[in-house]
Amino acid sequence: MVIGNEVIEPPQKEDCGDKKCPFHGDVTVRGQLLVGRVISDRMQRTVVVAREAARYVPKYKRYMRGTYKIHAHNPPCVNAHVGDIVLLGETRKLAKTVNFVVLKIIKKAKEGEQ
Ligand SMILES: [Zn+2]
Repeated sequence: MVIGNEVIEPPQKEDCGDKKCPFHGDVTVRGQLLVGRVISDRMQRTVVVAREAARYVPKYKRYMRGTYKIHAHNPPCVNAHVGDIVLLGETRKLAKTVNFVVLKIIKKAKEGEQ
């Protein structure tokens, strides 16, 4: 799968049966690609990803650094866990607070690391 300049290898696993999977379902990835760290995997097929970013504050004409949380769909064939560094792709709205999907795990969390 090619998104912009990024080539994403589909996972080795076979069909995961998830409609919201970008490889086996009917979800198209378009728009932004983001990198973040999974901070919660307690929801079913959804993870919370934290991202460091600078956001412009017009009132002070300055950038404010902060950590922003994004909810992302975590298809069973990717199966990201807490501590993993993941690549997210923007999709259509998948749930009330979800419009990103985990495309791949860039770096697995080390054993015991949260
Ligand atoms: Zn899948």
